Amino acid sequence: MLTTDDQQALLAWYDHHQRDLPWRRTRDPWSILLSEVLLQQTQVTRGLVYWRRMVETFPTVASMSRASVDAVLKAWEGAGYYSRARRLHALSQRVMLTKDKDGFNGELPGTYAELLTLPGIGPYTAAAVASIAFGQPVACVDGNIRRVMARHTAQTEPTAKDVQDWADAALQIHRPGDWNQALMELGATVCTPRRVRCEACPLVPSCRGRAAPERYPTAKKQRKIDVELTVVVELASDGYPVLSQRPMSGMFAGLWGPQYAEGPVEHHPSTAFCGTLRHELSHRRFTVHVHRRTNADCSTGTPPDSVALSALDIKVLELATVPTDKSR
Ligand code: SF4
Repeated sequence: MLTTDDQQALLAWYDHHQRDLPWRRTRDPWSILLSEVLLQQTQVTRGLVYWRRMVETFPTVASMSRASVDAVLKAWEGAGYYSRARRLHALSQRVMLTKDKDGFNGELPGTYAELLTLPGIGPYTAAAVASIAFGQPVACVDGNIRRVMARHTAQTEPTAKDVQDWADAALQIHRPGDWNQALMELGATVCTPRRVRCEACPLVPSCRGRAAPERYPTAKKQRKIDVELTVVVELASDGYPVLSQRPMSGMFAGLWGPQYAEGPVEHHPSTAFCGTLRHELSHRRFTVHVHRRTNADCSTGTPPDSVALSALDIKVLELATVPTDKSR
């Protein structure tokens, strides 16, 4: 349990030590929502690049609603977890609907409950946007806050309810947005997974886990699934690869790319082996054997920079255009 002294100390620390991030200099709900959606699974340094790109391309919820989902995916290219981009597009279109059609007349709603009804918005994002953009007294819970809570209370395996109850009780209702960000900032910069800096922490006087912070919480072992794939990149007569858009569900949904097949394929005389590359997603580790074939029957390929591609497809296409056998 945090005391009033803890709350004051943490907010004072945040006022002096918070990182200077552009979405903290605005109260625009749309810009804040974009930052929260991006930062869920993207580090801040990379998130900055994509946030700027998204805000410049789609400065308002209305501007995204008028765009195609392909244009949103293109702007999101490289940020990963593309379902976020597709849901953002769906969110923008829902917000622009009139109230009688279950929309919000073009204004992002300001309450936790309303935000939670939007596509792609879960409890964390709803609480973050409601508190930061609209000053609503709702507590956020993310991985950083869970770690701070586990250490402060010296618990190895707090449940989701334990963490939410702790966050609800700790919430500083006069500055809820700053409070939520202060706890997350502490977890991101001081109470970090490794190399914890307790000497710089404003909660150190009351922290029960400070003697051995890395014991809390118990690390979850993440096992990645190994996937072996083969891809034959066909090149049209104009030199561009033949690409197609993937279905709107499944891996890399809605993005463009060449076709993959599971497992290694036997060498075919009409294909040239370009190399093998490796690529990791959060739960999968890919080994991809890349081949190239000229398709004389196809006169026009797809310029890769004209469509949205996954990071894996960008690597595959780069390798397929290098005429040497090599591994990465
Ligand atoms: S004192 Fe150390 S372990 Fe406790 S909350 Fe602060 S940084 Fe984390």
